Amino acid sequence: MDLKQYVTIVDNWPKEGIKFKDITTLMDNGDAYRYATDQIVEYAKEKQIDLVVGPEARGFIIGCPVAYALGVGFAPVRKPGKLPRETIQQQYGLEYGKDALTIHKDAIKPGQRVLITDDLLATGGTIDATIKLVEELGGIVAGTAFLIELTYLDGRDKLEGYDIMTLMQY
Ligand code: AMP
Repeated sequence: MDLKQYVTIVDNWPKEGIKFKDITTLMDNGDAYRYATDQIVEYAKEKQIDLVVGPEARGFIIGCPVAYALGVGFAPVRKPGKLPRETIQQQYGLEYGKDALTIHKDAIKPGQRVLITDDLLATGGTIDATIKLVEELGGIVAGTAFLIELTYLDGRDKLEGYDIMTLMQY
């Protein structure tokens, strides 16, 4: 299936010069959403995943159906102040300034093989921070999966040494 036909490119959003890849039109189509999910599930089976981890909010949209299909759990990574119990935190750089991501301290058991999911790999900053959270809790990052990769931003370089699967490249 040619998934790109279901992605809507929105020029100059959220700011001038950005070509935003809107995946809501892919999710809106049951066949396309299921096809994309199935591709990631096959990848995850090869990697013998015990747990799926994804950053808010679109990492949930990709990761939760994968976890359901595999019969494994899903652990959310969220912005500070959103998770109710004890968390660990990781800062990461943004185009302007800094942000942080958190995960519950008991979300991962040491040695668990984790798949990290998100909708899109851009600079890799979000996933780099997510990897650090997983590893701090003793998880093994067995793979990372994205619908979309913006190859011109070289996110792969930042994630060197980790296995990356992407379904569409721009
Ligand atoms: P990064 O940390 O630079 O890899 O950015 C990844 C996050 O930013 C992803 O979770 C995307 O949801 C979002 N993102 C970055 N660039 C775009 C884009 N051009 N279109 C849609 N989402 C984007």
